[in-house]
Amino acid sequence: MLLIPVDEEIDELHGEQLRREFSRAMDTVAAAVSEPVGAVSLRLVQRLPVRGRWDDDRREALREMRSWLQRPKLYRARSAPAGRLPRPDGPGQMPYPTRTRYAAGHTACALCGDAVAPGDIIGRIRDKGTPPYITLGWACHHCLYHRRATPRRVDLVIRIFHDLFASNGVGLNPIECQRLLEWVEETPDITSTAAWKQDPLDNTLVRLRTSVQEQKLNTWFSVTSGQTFVAALHEATTTGQTPEGDLLRAVLQHTEEWQTNACDVDVRLYGTGWRYRLATLKRTAHPTALSRRGGPFYLHQATRTAPEVP
Ligand SMILES: [Zn+2]
Repeated sequence: MLLIPVDEEIDELHGEQLRREFSRAMDTVAAAVSEPVGAVSLRLVQRLPVRGRWDDDRREALREMRSWLQRPKLYRARSAPAGRLPRPDGPGQMPYPTRTRYAAGHTACALCGDAVAPGDIIGRIRDKGTPPYITLGWACHHCLYHRRATPRRVDLVIRIFHDLFASNGVGLNPIECQRLLEWVEETPDITSTAAWKQDPLDNTLVRLRTSVQEQKLNTWFSVTSGQTFVAALHEATTTGQTPEGDLLRAVLQHTEEWQTNACDVDVRLYGTGWRYRLATLKRTAHPTALSRRGGPFYLHQATRTAPEVP
């Protein structure tokens, strides 16, 4: 008799509905462990530091409470925090997460969407906390520690997307520059694509190569060049479905919606900046993995330098 929703249902809960399930679950646990609701709430704060206002925290708290109902011993057990794990050295290093814990159930990373299993390390990245950036939910081990030191192609696309979303120019570290160069070089027909012909990126490639040679901590290129990279890579990639191919398609769709106001957003209310892009993303007729996760998220720069877009 478990009254707390299963993982897939928890992922779909938002706002008021999520708050209702959350307080219902507290009552259920309090009855099951014969303690007042206040004691359950205190136990949750010790385990999770629930901030209350974040839906992501409430979802993780629901998973935690369900694990208590399934294995009541866990409720009274002392639980060690996940703590800090070793970080890679060099230009791919990121600040330590602000919070880490062992996942209480099956879920997905809030940034890359990879599956997270119970017991996996999850955590919150150090946010900028100022507009246009919004707080990212619970991220996976790779996104907390390794996404800038051993970036996958999906990490590059996700980074470009959030930089386009915030519209500050696209900033890469030398490892990401190297990965992007390799991707372009492994896509032989890329210079014949319509996107490349319209906006050739040869000079940008020279800058990326120089940044790799000099191990420059941050290399910036313009939003337009970011869009061209995405469009040309998508156009030139003929191999079947890949995770990065799906993401490239999603970024293209959303940038096109932003450019054409395809979702009929009232620009008198939202302007033409990130608020407009967020409103467009929320109203899209064709939701993607990126629109469901939202943003824009601050994904870190190696140093605090202002964007220098030539
Ligand atoms: Zn991730």
